[in-house]
Amino acid sequence: MNNPDCIFCKIATGEIPKDFFYRDAEFMVFADIHPAAPTHLLVLPNDHILRSMAEVTPELHPMLGRMFQLARTIAEKAGVADDGYRLVFNVRHHAGQEVDHLHLHILGGQVLGPLG
Ligand code: AMP
Ligand code: ZN
Repeated sequence: MNNPDCIFCKIATGEIPKDFFYRDAEFMVFADIHPAAPTHLLVLPNDHILRSMAEVTPELHPMLGRMFQLARTIAEKAGVADDGYRLVFNVRHHAGQEVDHLHLHILGGQVLGPLG
């Protein structure tokens, strides 16, 4: 499942080269190109399954469960788990969502500012 106009799909297919922090048959993890913290990773399904959490449906709950479990593992691998980190889904315009391919931000490596 691929959207030819989507930058994350282009990363998934290899059209845009990327050093993956982690990759498997279902998910990919790579560093955000404009890091907002010393550790800033994106966790996302390889496939263009949904644009954001605003489109989540019950059939997607198992995939999301695996994604959250992977986020935990990745945070540990990245060395931010002990001190703590933030998980963020931006949803649509007011949250500043730039890429309409579901992705979870992992932010850490420093004390993070308040939300807002
Ligand atoms: P969001 O604002 O939640 O849609 O997040 C999209 C994120 O993707 C932004 O933080 C961008 O910096 C990041 N991004 C865009 N293009 C790339 C890319 N080619 N490689 C890595 N991160 C990217
Ligand atoms: Zn996509």
